[in-house]
Amino acid sequence: MQTQNQVAGKLYLVGTPIGNLEDITFRAVRVLREVDFIAAEDTRHTRKLLTHFDIVGKDLFSYHEHNERDAARQIMERVLRGEHGAVVSDAGMPGISDPGQEVVQLAIASEIDVVVVPGPSAGITALCGSGIATDAFSFYGFLPRETNRRKQVLEALQYRKETMIFYEAPHRIEKTLQAMHEVFGERFVVIARELTKIHEDFIRGVLTKEGVSFAESPKKGEMVIVVQGAEETAKEPAKNTLLPIIDHVQMLVNQGVDRKEAMREVAKLHGVSRRDVYQQLLLEDKNK
Ligand code: SAM
Repeated sequence: MQTQNQVAGKLYLVGTPIGNLEDITFRAVRVLREVDFIAAEDTRHTRKLLTHFDIVGKDLFSYHEHNERDAARQIMERVLRGEHGAVVSDAGMPGISDPGQEVVQLAIASEIDVVVVPGPSAGITALCGSGIATDAFSFYGFLPRETNRRKQVLEALQYRKETMIFYEAPHRIEKTLQAMHEVFGERFVVIARELTKIHEDFIRGVLTKEGVSFAESPKKGEMVIVVQGAEETAKEPAKNTLLPIIDHVQMLVNQGVDRKEAMREVAKLHGVSRRDVYQQLLLEDKNK
């Protein structure tokens, strides 16, 4: 990303390991060593990482979801003065279910060069090992915790054909898998657990009423849920079939469609017989 600002320094978005420290890149280590300051989600966590790679005496300050806006402004001020800064999260790529997006948007608005130093990300790592189609996928991060909101989000995804990737905390995994079953039905699913760590595990199964068909329920560790997309033939019901049958016929008639033709069309869309539509209209006429 090349911009016009000649005085300003650069803003580096640096990917860090999601478990296995060997996954850090040579470039990430060099950039973290060279920058003037590092904005970290948890400074203690990042200091440990830096110490492991013999990077000491760094100017570290916190940049997390609760101070994202203020910290982003502070980062901008320093970079605009000519300092080079790095943003890291506790694990993986900043900006992916982690702070990062705000500072990138501010940097773009200030014509500051943003340089991404790519590293591992749990979602992509899980997808690649899942065995589920990788040619088209969507990433949704964490679902809402509130039951109704979570259901609404899942319902909006019910007919998506591509693979879907979600993050989840271990204590919510069972409820989330049950909610997924309620909406998606018996879909193939993979739980990718403790990726890149000693106990890395890919648990494959089918969504069931109890959550999953796995012998042992995955309750511990960090985890990603990868869900197979809907069948190619799955079809989202047309939105206007949600109209009551009588209103639907009337709407088509108002649009100039012949009444008999409207009844035939509505019967087809609602999956009922023409006789059912006719009887509902008769009843409506009687009640007028
Ligand atoms: N920025 C990170 C990334 O690029 O993947 C994601 C951070 S998000 C706050 C943390 C969530 O990522 C965890 O709750 C879990 O769902 C997933 N995650 C992170 N590390 C993981 C790992 N080693 N194995 C499985 N899932 C992981």
